This record gives sequence, structure tokens and C-alpha cells, in this order.
Amino acid sequence: MTKLAASAMTDIGRVRLMNEDAVLADKDLVAVADGMGGHPGGEVAARTAIDALRHAFVGGTVERLREAVITANRAVWERAGTDGGLEGMGTTLCVAAVVEADDETGVGVAHVGDSRAYLLRDGQLRQLTDDHSVVSDLIRAGEITEQDALHHPHRHVLTRVLGMGPDLEPDSTVLSVHRGDRVLLCTDGLVNELDDHQIIAVLLSVPQASSAAEQLLAQAVAAGGRDNVSVAVIDVISTSD
Ligand code: MN
Repeated sequence: MTKLAASAMTDIGRVRLMNEDAVLADKDLVAVADGMGGHPGGEVAARTAIDALRHAFVGGTVERLREAVITANRAVWERAGTDGGLEGMGTTLCVAAVVEADDETGVGVAHVGDSRAYLLRDGQLRQLTDDHSVVSDLIRAGEITEQDALHHPHRHVLTRVLGMGPDLEPDSTVLSVHRGDRVLLCTDGLVNELDDHQIIAVLLSVPQASSAAEQLLAQAVAAGGRDNVSVAVIDVISTSD
């Protein structure tokens, strides 16, 4: 049985006046969300998505996890449609959870937008998610490089978020995990301030999930803190093997 020890934290950063990110670490269900749409829409969108996700996912396969993200989308979409002040709000969502897979359990990951999941295994950091963004599409098409993307005029434009319509296709995957694996979920406020080497250094040197999350936030804020920043550090503490 896969068991996780997770810690999720968020920081307003040094520039923004509000924190429009939201996080969840509820035993076997962990998530980060990055809301948009101005005050109060961004905060409401992220919080609505997280709350709806928590109620909708009661365990099961990664397909159930995807369905919970779709339910969360509908909750944000409906709320935006019934409250004029919240029109146009949206949010990213990146979630990891223990899921049933074949005759064992694994970690399911589902996401929408540019909030990311990474796997740290054997000292290597591997990105598990593809951003739903204009620049990410351009990189995949070979039209620009990762380096170009950092300064691209459309670098903040997302192609998929929760709350934009009644229907949504989240991406999802299932990881077969081992004890000692560490999964990181984060909003763009982390990866826009810290590079992979800085992130790896913290994840490798700080054993406790909550301390690692705290340090990642502190370093992102110290590096500029130009956006809200959220992280969830998830340690796989036991598996069936
Ligand atoms: Mn952000």
C-alpha cells in the first residue's frame, strides 16, 4: 500500500498584494492551484477548485482523479457564471494522489495549466507535466527554445485552465513509485525564481517534507518573490514492494 507524507505551503511573495494560490495536503490527496482573474476572482477560483477536488475525490483510480478535476472545473465555471464579480476567473490545478493501479497502488498525477509536478528519484529531477501554455506549445513544435520562452511576450498565456468552460480535458499519468521517491508540485512562482539545480539542492539536502517546502518558498521569495509561490513536497514512505 502506497503511503505518502506530504506538506503543502504557499507564500504571497514580495510584490503581489494578494495570494491567489491555494494548496491542499490532505493525507493521500495533495494539490496546488494558481488562481487568476483579479480580486477577488483569483483567490475564489483557486479555493473553489481545491475544495471541490477534495470533496469529489474519495479514492480510486487515476480516472477517478481526472473526474474529480473535471468536477472542480465545473464548480469554478458555475461559480463564475452566477456571481458577476467573479466573471472570467480561472485557475490552474496540479494534483497528486494515491490511486489504485492494476493490482497495486501508485501515485496519480493530474493537471491543468502551468502548475507542475516533478519526480525526484536517484538524485534526478524529472518534470512529469507539460505546461498548457502558448510557449510550451511553441517549444514542442520546435519553433522556439526553452531559453526563448523565458522572455517570450506570451509566456504567461495559458491554453487550458479551470473555469473557462463547462468541459475540460485534464492530463494525467500514474507513477509506479518506490520508497524514497519525492514528488514536488509547484506553481509558476517557484520555477520562475529557481532553476532545477537550486530545486534539486533543497530536495536532496532537506529530509523532512515540511522543512523542504519551507526552504523552497524561502529561496523563491529571496530570489525576487515576483509572484505568489506554492509548493507541495510529497515523500513516498511505503509501497507494496
Ligand atoms: Mn503564478
